[in-house]
Order: sequence, then structure tokens, then C-alpha cells
Amino acid sequence: MKNMQRQTGLWKLIDALAAALVASMACTAAAGATDCPRKDALNTARVLAVDAATTPRVGLKSFPQTLPLGDHEVVLTFDDGPWPPTTRRVLAALARECVQATFFLIGKAASEHPDLVRQIAAEGHSIGHHTWSHPSLARIPPEQVVEQINRGFAADEMALHGVATTTPSTPFFRFPGFESTPATLDLLQSRGIVVFGADLWASDWDPMTPKQELKLITDRLEAARKGIILLHDSKARTAAMLPAFLRYLRDHHYRVVRLVSASGAVAGGHDAKTGH
Ligand SMILES: [Zn+2]
Repeated sequence: MKNMQRQTGLWKLIDALAAALVASMACTAAAGATDCPRKDALNTARVLAVDAATTPRVGLKSFPQTLPLGDHEVVLTFDDGPWPPTTRRVLAALARECVQATFFLIGKAASEHPDLVRQIAAEGHSIGHHTWSHPSLARIPPEQVVEQINRGFAADEMALHGVATTTPSTPFFRFPGFESTPATLDLLQSRGIVVFGADLWASDWDPMTPKQELKLITDRLEAARKGIILLHDSKARTAAMLPAFLRYLRDHHYRVVRLVSASGAVAGGHDAKTGH
């Protein structure tokens, strides 16, 4: 008898725990949905904290490792902005579907359009970094490499927060043209900065119509089934095809994952050495 009572008590506890778990999951799901004014929007499905210690380099096009994404999970990334005519259209398309992306900014453009940088951040997107003026870092002298990286960080941070620090608040970096070198990869890793490649892309640097670009990226996604997607918010064809692409993601049950930084960059160290 005593044993049965104990078992009943245990089951009650399990029921209570299960109910609490379901309630917390419903709450998490609702948090994204209720913020979106549109009922059938795509919505961001979850937030992933990216840690430089465990994933210093991600993206299968360049590295053996990528982000821990599940089947049908995608991360949207946009390079080479801010570029007002097209970045604004990209932001509008993302806002309409209530999804967030990561924007890898060119520092010079950020310094010319700080309001747009702040708008990107205010709309919940993450700010990554893409050098000061987009040279190939594999083809310039090492001191210029450091200058390009630091000046880019400082310009983006100045636009964002009014402080020209070379310790970025979101330590995400992408090499122009994915042209990395082992030494620069080591340098960024030592500074706690995650280097982003991509898992797939729309080849939107090639001339094509928005319709062709949509076909290309959806075919590639169908094959890959998930991944970090590279697009360019500086390209009119990408801005034009994005609304249809986001609808495609929704209709084919893809889940958009928003990235945040798990840890800040390593402050001081390198900055002190270079004097930047
Ligand atoms: Zn670029």
C-alpha cells in the first residue's frame, strides 16, 4: 500500500513537470508570434547563441564546421551594406515576415549611413563586420590587414553606439570574398571573433534576374535542407527576390534561426599591441 502511494506521488510529480514543460514551450513559441502583427508571417523560430570558444569558424563553403542547425533550419546573412536603396527594401521584406538576419557591414558604408546601421540593429538584426573597404585580405600586407579589420570594427561601432572601439559588441566577422589566410584566422580567433563563411549562397554577385536568383537559391536549399545562407543587401536583384524567397521558406516549413553572440570579443590585448 505504502509503495503504491509513493508511486502515485511520483506520477503526480511527473505530470506536474510535464505540464510545466508544455507551458514553458508554449510560452516560448508565443513570444515570437505575438510580436508579429501579421498572422501568417514566417517568424523567427529560435535564437542561437554563437560561441567563439566552441565554433570559432563556421560555414561549410570554407571550413569543416558549421553552426549546429537542425533539418530545415536556416540562418539569413546579408553582406556589403549598408546601401540605402536596397538595404531599406531588404529590411522591409524581413520586417513583413518578422524574421531577423545578420548583416555583415562594410565600415566605410556604415560611417556614411549611421542611421541605417542603427535601424538594422533596432529591428532586431545582428551586426557582423566585413572590413573597412572590402579589399581581399589575402592580397594585402599584414599591417594593412589589421588596419582593415580594426577600422571596420571601429566604424561599425561608431555608427551603432557612438564609440569607435575595435572590440566589436557582436564579434562576428566575414572575410571579403571568403579570402582568409591562416595567420588572419588565428588572429581573429585569439581576439574571440567568430569567422563566418556560408553553407550556401544565391551567387547574387552574378548578373541574373530576381526570378533566376530565386530558382537558384531554392534549388540549392532543397539539396542542402538547412544552413547559413549568404545574400547581399547591396544587390537590387536580391532585394527584389527576397519577399518571394521568404514566402517560399514559410510555405516549405523552414525555420529561421536568429544569431546572437554568446560571449563578447576579447578586449584590449591586440588593440594595445597595434595602437589602434
Ligand atoms: Zn562582401
